[in-house]
Amino acid sequence: MSVEADQRVCVGAGLCALTAPGVFDQDENGLVVVLEGTPSGKARDEALRAERLCPSGAVRVGRSHG
Ligand code: SF4
Repeated sequence: MSVEADQRVCVGAGLCALTAPGVFDQDENGLVVVLEGTPSGKARDEALRAERLCPSGAVRVGRSHG
């Protein structure tokens, strides 16, 4: 599984960093930063939740690699 986040789309709501703190952070402007691009276990589940919660669609979780 691979995690990507597009700062051009992000609106800085911060839900991703709250939901999956091991996977996402926010930079000094509040925009999403990916900390862990290939999470597993609990972090993987949190990343999937963050993808659903993100209001802007900036978070993309690819499922093609398991
Ligand atoms: S939840 Fe979405 S809009 Fe909010 S900071 Fe994360 S990527 Fe950006």
